[in-house]
Amino acid sequence: MRALVYYGNKDVRLESNWEDPKILNDNDAIIKVSYTSICATDIEEWQFGPNYIQPEDTPVVHGHEITGEVIEIGKNPTALKIGDKVAVNNVIHCNSCFWCLKGQGGACVSMKVAGFHYDGGLAEYMRWPSDHLIKVSDSTPDEHGALIEPTSVACHAVRKSGVRPGDNVAVVGCGTVGLLTIQVLKASGANVAAVDIRPESLKLAKDFGADYTFDSRDKEIIEKMIEVSDGIGHDIVFETAGSAEAPKISIDYTRRGGKTILVGIYSAQPKMDFNQIVFFEREVIGSVGSAPGDMEAGVRLLNQGKIDPAPLISNIISLDNVVEEGYQKMASNSKGIFRILVKP
Ligand SMILES: [Zn+2]
Ligand SMILES: [Zn+2]
Repeated sequence: MRALVYYGNKDVRLESNWEDPKILNDNDAIIKVSYTSICATDIEEWQFGPNYIQPEDTPVVHGHEITGEVIEIGKNPTALKIGDKVAVNNVIHCNSCFWCLKGQGGACVSMKVAGFHYDGGLAEYMRWPSDHLIKVSDSTPDEHGALIEPTSVACHAVRKSGVRPGDNVAVVGCGTVGLLTIQVLKASGANVAAVDIRPESLKLAKDFGADYTFDSRDKEIIEKMIEVSDGIGHDIVFETAGSAEAPKISIDYTRRGGKTILVGIYSAQPKMDFNQIVFFEREVIGSVGSAPGDMEAGVRLLNQGKIDPAPLISNIISLDNVVEEGYQKMASNSKGIFRILVKP
């Protein structure tokens, strides 16, 4: 089969004779990949890695935001049937480490991820455990399934935050994960303010249900945000921008005694005054990837139409030009580009 294979830093190759995946144990299934979405993490691995990818796991088929159709199932009993549309739950937790046993799967020390440790979805076919394939309703367009993985990242952050209906929350950074976080928060009954500098992102935030939008360059933004949060400030602020100044801004927007959830991954060292946390008794919580149950929650929201990923699909390309039309384009210009999907 054809597959886009990660060998190392700036070395990703389109292989035309990569071995077809086979069922190796009774819990495996084989899917025909419909779409795999390219994520900033893939580009980081290509540009600066190997980072999360361990050199001993290379070469490895890249791609971790995957949807496909089940074409073969191992002997173990499963509710899946041949022909089912599925999203790949790309993270396999060990279920035996200290953190997994405490119910903190997001912090598992031995997790294995598709496209990083095991062959991923930038290929025609993929093997994956059938208990990590989540059925997507037949009425959901195939391309939407590829955005279930970033949706699970948004669900993880929102579920970790403990948000309650009616809470005043803000989302700083309206890229793909930020805009999905806004939709998950609206489905949870929160009052949502969105912050970004890109007008097209703020417009999408509004389309997705944000109650207020703010340009972070506005000199009076703090006063305006306090005004829309009952004069108190936001109960919870989600930081999804990942820039060096975003954590400080997000903590500033958080009310006294409120929570800041950091979802961004920082390539530059953020600047921080820790007194901002101490003096106002704020809580700062990190959230990365997803934990058991988050992807199922994302699929449910998508099946119910409470999440609409369509406006986040900026382009669909083939396996032939993933590096030029995908990685290079997303690395050089983030303007107006959310997700680029690959149709193998
Ligand atoms: Zn991703
Ligand atoms: Zn574990």
